Amino acid sequence: MSTPHALESQFVADQLALRTVIANGVRTQPEGDYILYWMQSTHRFEENWALRHAILEADRLGKPLLIHQGLDPTYEHANDRIHTVILENARALHRRAERLGLRYQFVLRRRRDDDRRVVDRLAARAAMVVTDLFPTAGIAERTARFAARAPCRVVMVESHAIVPSGAFVKEEYAARTIRPKIAKLLDLALEPVADRPPRKALPDSVWRSLEVDRVNFARFNVSAEVAQCEIDHAVPAVPFASGLDGARARLDAFVRDGLEDYAERRNEPSDTNGSSRLSPYLHFGQISAAEVLRTVRGAAHPESAKKFEDELVTWRELALNFCLRNRHYGKLRGLPDWVHRSMEKHKDDPREAIYSLAQLERAESHDELWNAAQRELVRTGYMHNVTRMLWGKSVLLWTARYKHALDHLILLNNKYGLDGRDPSSYGGIQWCFGKFDRPWFDKPVFGVIRPMSLARAREKFDAEAYIRMFPA
Ligand SMILES: Cc1cc2nc3c(=O)[nH]c(=O)nc-3n(C[C@H](O)[C@H](O)[C@H](O)COP(=O)(O)OP(=O)(O)OC[C@H]3O[C@@H](n4cnc5c(N)ncnc54)[C@H](O)[C@@H]3O)c2cc1C
Repeated sequence: MSTPHALESQFVADQLALRTVIANGVRTQPEGDYILYWMQSTHRFEENWALRHAILEADRLGKPLLIHQGLDPTYEHANDRIHTVILENARALHRRAERLGLRYQFVLRRRRDDDRRVVDRLAARAAMVVTDLFPTAGIAERTARFAARAPCRVVMVESHAIVPSGAFVKEEYAARTIRPKIAKLLDLALEPVADRPPRKALPDSVWRSLEVDRVNFARFNVSAEVAQCEIDHAVPAVPFASGLDGARARLDAFVRDGLEDYAERRNEPSDTNGSSRLSPYLHFGQISAAEVLRTVRGAAHPESAKKFEDELVTWRELALNFCLRNRHYGKLRGLPDWVHRSMEKHKDDPREAIYSLAQLERAESHDELWNAAQRELVRTGYMHNVTRMLWGKSVLLWTARYKHALDHLILLNNKYGLDGRDPSSYGGIQWCFGKFDRPWFDKPVFGVIRPMSLARAREKFDAEAYIRMFPA
């Protein structure tokens, strides 16, 4: 491994230049008490480019740094499942912050009419606000609204991708167009950086004077707190070892037992270690994709590592590019023209079945394999990649309009999936409708969108074993 770059190196400056977007036209306020890092999507301190930028700005202006994370009941699909993951990780972050010399606070807004202006009050005393650049989960919209009223400069920094998202300024057409561009930049982007805390500590007097009701993790019972929140309690928490330790344990288990035969085992949905199952950790930013890739490359399975790299980097960063560069990423309008021509031609084709959202949600289709996939999602917060493709393609066939299919899939995926609301959620779902793909042979309903069939899938993997794992 090469010697880590210092935080103030040219390397870090170059990477940050490609990850940073200024969100408003307001100037830095030199009299501010601190630099505020508002943590929204990158829930970690390690390999966090927004945090790096905030530390560098704090040092440049001679200010301390305050890291703030909050959780509201107002985000889309706010439920026990998502709340629990975020709060358990926050507890771990709180413990780690002290060790790393960072000042981190977490504020939980339990009810909709509780104090809703915490970040505004913190920004009123800040020289500058740094936050995460993230296109989905309502974060881009929330940041834009905040930046428009903030009294100081607001800067967004992307930490989701290994290769900085700013390296690709246009929407990429397909995996084959972004793959060679990523290949040229990946090794450089993976070079390690020596992280360190800011030079100036936040004075206790400032910490105490902030008017915030921060969580005291010394006496904090996550499930009792979640029960008090004004959120959807019908989507319960699921077993999940939230946090960097959990992510590293999952990664180690996969490298030990799954990576060697990843190319084959990833095609078997009943094989629980055949793929990494890191998507929730990556979604919440609990572990960086760079750490995952370095670990996988360090294992002695170069062929499998290459295949895994293609999923983790090419497909994941293609999805990020799509959501950043196509504002219709959650709509049929985000799809290419050939898909629209095909959908127009086939919109009135007879469907083999039409299901309502409620029937789909309750896993009441005529196909037990599809129902098992839906039950996996609802019960565990995860669905295997192979069944996810079949799940999405089938719903396209089972609604009266393509738009209903897209809306139902996005809702179910994002409501139940621990990895939902992610750029990869939209990339994956839109792939079912032809995004990133090419036209195939014309068929009823699918038109020239690549078809997939639940019946044919049964010949390729052990569907019965999978169905048995998620019984009605
Ligand atoms: C209909 C549909 C919905 C999807 N919804 C989501 C979602 O909500 N969240 C999500 O993270 N992924 C989603 N995907 C992509 C993919 O199915 C999951 O990322 C993958 O199954 C996660 O399992 P894993 O962590 O074991 O993946 P692994 O095979 O171990 O791959 C490692 C990582 O690479 C990334 N990755 C793998 N495949 C893809 C892909 N096709 N597109 C983008 N990134 C990928 C993920 O971050 C994943 O954790 C969806 C795909 C489809 C077809």
